[in-house]
Formats: sequence, C-alpha cells, structure tokens
Amino acid sequence: MYHYEHLYIDGQWVAPRRQGSFDSFDPSDDSILARVAAASAEDVALAVGAARRAFDQGDWPRLSGSERARVLRRIAEGIRARQDELAILEVRDNGKPLAEAQLDIADAAGCFVYYAGLAEAADAAPRQAIEVPDERFSCWVEREPVGVVGAIIPWNFPLLMAAWKVAPALAAGCTLVLKPSELTPLSALELARIAHQAGLPAGVLNVLSGLGSEAGAALAEHPGLDKLAFTGSVPTGRKIMQAAAREIKNLSLELGGKSPFIVFADSQLEAAVEWIMFGIFWNQGQVCSATSRVLVERALYPALLARLVEATGKIRIGPGLEEGVQLGPLVSRGQLDKVLSAIARGQQEGAQLLCGGQRPEHLQQGNYLTPAIFADVPLASALWREEIFGPVVCLRAFDTEAEALQLANDSPFGLAAAVMSEDIPRCERVARGLRAGIVWINCSQPTFNEAPWGGYKQSGIGRELGEWGFNSYLEVKQITRYDSQQAWGWYLQ
Ligand code: NAD
Repeated sequence: MYHYEHLYIDGQWVAPRRQGSFDSFDPSDDSILARVAAASAEDVALAVGAARRAFDQGDWPRLSGSERARVLRRIAEGIRARQDELAILEVRDNGKPLAEAQLDIADAAGCFVYYAGLAEAADAAPRQAIEVPDERFSCWVEREPVGVVGAIIPWNFPLLMAAWKVAPALAAGCTLVLKPSELTPLSALELARIAHQAGLPAGVLNVLSGLGSEAGAALAEHPGLDKLAFTGSVPTGRKIMQAAAREIKNLSLELGGKSPFIVFADSQLEAAVEWIMFGIFWNQGQVCSATSRVLVERALYPALLARLVEATGKIRIGPGLEEGVQLGPLVSRGQLDKVLSAIARGQQEGAQLLCGGQRPEHLQQGNYLTPAIFADVPLASALWREEIFGPVVCLRAFDTEAEALQLANDSPFGLAAAVMSEDIPRCERVARGLRAGIVWINCSQPTFNEAPWGGYKQSGIGRELGEWGFNSYLEVKQITRYDSQQAWGWYLQ
C-alpha cells in the first residue's frame, strides 16, 4: 500500500491540519491502493494564502515567458524521466490499460512543452497595437496573468487533466491550487514532486488531495481566488458556477457530453466499426467526448450492427497491467453501479441490448463490465439522452442528412461530434451544422495540445488547450496614451 499522507503547500509536504485521510482503491481488485491526505477548509485556506503570496510578492508572475518556459520544460523532462513508473501508478489508481496510460503520460509531458513554447512566443510580442480612429492617441493591449487559480479535475485522465490546467496557467504566470479527484489523486501529487524538483518556486503550485464535498467545495468557495478552472460533471459544474458568482470570479468549465457519431452508408464498414469502438470503448468509455450516440444511415445499419457486435465480443477485458488487455475495470464500484443501473433502465425503456452490459464471468473481483451495445434506442429514453460514462454505445438508424443532424443536435450537451462518409464536402457541411465544440471527420477522439477543447451548451464555458487555453489564464489590459500637446479643452477652454 502506498502512503500519500501529506499535502503540497507552499513548497512543502505538510500533514493535513485535521489529520484526515481517505483510501484510494485499485479498481482491478478493489484492494486499498493508498492512504491519502484529506485536505480540509483550513488546508485550502493555507494553500490559497501561499498561492496569493507567490502571485502578489513572488517572482513567478514577473518572470519573462522564457524564464517560465525553462521550468515548464524541466517539468516535462521530469515526467518523461518517470514515464513508466507514472503510467503504472495511473493504471493502478484509475484502471485503464497500460498502453493508454503510457499515451496519457507522454501527452501530459507534451502539454508542458507546448505551453513552454507559447510562453516564449509571448515574449516576442509583448504588446498588440490597436488602430484607433483618432491620431492623437496610441492604443495597445498587454496581457497579464489572471492571478490565483483554483483548479479542480476529474478522475478519467488524472495526470493529463492536471497538465491541461497547470501547464497553461504556469506559462501565463498564474499561481494555482490544484485539487485532483479523490478517486485518482496519486499522479497529481507526483506532479507536485516533479514541479518542486524542476525548481518551481514555493507557493506557485499547491496540490491538495481531498474529497469534493470538503476540499473541493472549500476551494470553489474561497474568496481569495481570481479564477476557477473546473473539469467534471454538470451537477458539480453548476455548484462551481454558483460559487464563482459571489465574487464574479473568472470561470472555465469543461463538463460532460453525449456526443453523436453520424455514419453515412458510403462509409467503409471496417473503418466505421473501428472508430465507433475507439469512440466509446477507449478508457472504458469514461471519456467526456465519447461518441456514445451513433446514428447510422439505414442502408448500412444491419451490416454495421452485426460487425460491431462481433468485433466488440473480441475485446480483451482484464487488469490494465496485463499484457494485451484493451478494456480495464471502471474506476470505482460506485461508477460500475451507476453504469449497471443505466443499462437496466435502458432495457426497461425498450432499447434492445445486443451484447454485453454484464460483469464478466472470469473476473469476479474488480469493477469490470463487458462492453454494451444497444440498438433502436428510444429518443426520449435516459439511455439516449444522459451521459453514462461507461462502455455503453447506443445506436439508431436514420434516413436523411437533415434527420441525422436534427437527431445529433437534439441534446442538452454539445462537447463533441463525429461524422463519417467518403463524401468530404458532405462531411464538412454536416460538421458546420453540428452544435458542438469539437467535430471529428472520419475518426473520433484524436486530440492535440495545439487545438481548442471545450463545449457548447451544457458541456461548458471556455476552451482549454491551444492558444485558447493559454489566453484563458490571461487578462487583457487596454492601455491608451494621449500623445498630443494640445489641451483636451472640454472643461478648461
Ligand atoms: P465530478 O463532478 O464528480 O468531480 C470532478 C471534481 O470535482 C473532483 O475533483 C471532485 O472531487 C470535485 N467535486 C465534487 N463535488 C464538488 C463540490 N461540491 N465542489 C467542488 N468540487 C467538487 O466528476 P467526475 O465524476 O470526477 O468526472 C466525470 C465527469 O467529468 C463527466 O461528466 C465527464 O464528462 C466530465 N469530464 C469532462 C471533460 C471535458 O473536458 N469536458 C474531461 C473529463 C471529464
């Protein structure tokens, strides 16, 4: 069993003020993986205080972008140096197959390198001139760090979700308090260790493990923050938004989804099946952008269902550390129970369960579930409308492009969408019609640090990644200078 019984506050590892702890479980066998420090509101106050001092009095926000970039690159090197160890830790904490965890860790390191590049580029263009229609004035824009950030992240990509917030915030010159999910806190605590060794000054990054209802709520409600950056579910996002409203804090929300995948009949069957599977079974379907609603043009529907069921039956399920495993356990017993009850309700609602949706016979321990395929899912059912966050895909047939678009957009969410066809102009037309922040053509899920990430409608507010992610940690300051020697002449003639 690991012991992570300290919090990282002001550059030091300290015991929680109230001596609290909780257990983190290995989802492959439900054993206790680690005892972890549980931060209370007092610890949150200490961490916010440290981040505030580091922002108001420390060097970090006042360094050049290149100086900050040097530390970010060292953090990336620190992650890469421990790649295998971190990947194994992530598997043991989250359950995902090792090959996926390896990609996540590499992506997290890449995210720090990418934002190091943006920090350096910002040095080259410290001000943006603004043309104003009065030659007596010069006007320009400078960008400054937003301030002290409270970052709250989920459990599905633990280190990567931390990197998506910590890297751009640090690059921008912000200071942070990061709270990872209580289900997967270990890699964020390791990130604190790596950042410390990389020479990040005390107080710039503080990492608090703890429960959402206690540490998370205390952080969201702390008046000393300038920005809240949250990734998680819609119900928690609503609470974060309410907490932000009191001080009108800057806010970014990355929430859930029920993303559609439109497959036209001219698609190649094998490619369609492969991308549908990758779109919903990768990471056990615990992916905010999972394409969980699949709309198939009627001519292809029967053949696609048959091939999808056949290929899904061959997915190898088991512990994430076992060679060749493609689907690990769900993150927790609670998550497994939620997904099982969504499946049972779907059957009651009249959807046709073609395969899966059960606990595999050969895996009696751990939170395993055979991937489920539902056909002819009723439009009004919870199965079709609500995020399940598990390896459960819902399919329906459609007849026309207009119908497919209408069905795809009929959702309170708008995070992602995908469209597949050999007819590229049609794909691009459909992509423009989809009300979603991310649209994949002839694929589903590939994600790049350079491209914006975020949702329409209830899927969130703002964008992460790319220059959009960097800008979300920067304030925009307009500076206008009166250059003329002439008196203004309004009150004093
Ligand atoms: P969650 O909302 O339960 O928890 C997210 C985080 O919020 C955790 O750290 C948790 O401890 C904390 N939290 C819980 N209650 C809180 C409160 N009252 N105040 C403050 N913090 C609180 O979500 P989850 O189950 O960890 O993650 C799954 C959800 O995240 C899904 O809905 C998924 O779609 C979404 N997600 C979205 C994205 C995206 O980029 N849009 C990425 C990953 C996950």
